[in-house]
Amino acid sequence: KLGSFDHSTFWKGNRFPSIKAKSFGRISMAVAVNVSRFEGEELQPYVLKVVKKAENLMLERGENKEYLPIEGLAAFNKVTAELLFGADNPLIQQQRVATVQGLSGTGSLRLAAALIERYFPGAKVIISSPTWGNHKNIFNDARVPWSEYRYYDPKTVGLDFNGMMSDIKAAPEGSFVLLHGCAHNPTGIDPTLEQWEKIADIIQEKNHIPFFDVAYQGFASGSLDADASSVRLFAARGMELLVAQSYSKNLGLYSERIGAINVVCSSADATARVRSQLKRLARPMYSNPPIHGARIVANVVGNPALFKEWKEEMELMAGRIKNIRQKLFDSLSAKDKSGKDWSFILKQIGMFSYTGLNKAQSENMTDKWHVYMTKDWKNIIGRIIFSQM
Ligand code: PMP
Repeated sequence: KLGSFDHSTFWKGNRFPSIKAKSFGRISMAVAVNVSRFEGEELQPYVLKVVKKAENLMLERGENKEYLPIEGLAAFNKVTAELLFGADNPLIQQQRVATVQGLSGTGSLRLAAALIERYFPGAKVIISSPTWGNHKNIFNDARVPWSEYRYYDPKTVGLDFNGMMSDIKAAPEGSFVLLHGCAHNPTGIDPTLEQWEKIADIIQEKNHIPFFDVAYQGFASGSLDADASSVRLFAARGMELLVAQSYSKNLGLYSERIGAINVVCSSADATARVRSQLKRLARPMYSNPPIHGARIVANVVGNPALFKEWKEEMELMAGRIKNIRQKLFDSLSAKDKSGKDWSFILKQIGMFSYTGLNKAQSENMTDKWHVYMTKDWKNIIGRIIFSQM
């Protein structure tokens, strides 16, 4: 009797009594200190000119909406690995990078977490304290155990390098060490190249596996190569490693959900096996990834004129953020008579800045001056966001 089914009698009572709602409200943004997302001076969400050009080209070609293979668009996977490791990196010729298109940075991290859960049962991921809030959700949902290593030093508003080193050393042998490739979220504090070398030493010594999250390549310094130098330094040592990539920030493709997971393996054979298992994990999760953003990236990077334009626009975006940092530093140094050293604002990179202000100071700024900062680390530190999260 199709059509006469009465849902009101079938759907009785409360079927989901234990499910509580969770709020996912956005964090209040820094208003007076300018900018909640990357928007240019007009404070409007910014679509990169180069993205519009690539989309027009795609429209002219009348491209179809056919499914992609599970691993994504081949042209995208090729260029994304080349952007990350450098096109002339021997790893690429040796076919030692398993690249699978993911649902942006988040989805790529989630796929890697599923790989860890399946093939490294019991292995732990160690993550920086603090880190991007979603890292913990991702590993929790993938049932991957995690713990934190020290990272932020409130005394210097800088890196707790010794704490970081000893916590990485103390982690069980063979742990995955989650590292932010550049522009650490939420602190804006990155290790120097010398410190990266020492971090790589200790990771090798402990037989750990580096797992990079690269969400801001090119957006931090303005240079794609400079922002990939941490990853390349590890890769040059011949280490096996994982790298999740995102194009949300550097190409402004937030809602296109475009990124990739790259696994550097010890041989072409291992790479083929890892790739096939990544596909096996992806298939029941989402079948295959979306095509539009992948085409944009492939078209921009694959076309020398568009690639050049992208790099110029990226320099502009990164430059604007650096500019705001400089202005903030200049006015604080000129007006603040407390003798506080504000130079950490210039040493930090990318769109986040820990201010080192305590809860009372942050609240005073909000209540009295309408400068809104997040209180996201142990609820005590005002954080300024110079751009979109
Ligand atoms: N990793 C870090 C460190 C991030 O800051 C972000 C975005 N805020 C992501 C990953 C993922 O972003 P998306 O899923 O939009 O690529």
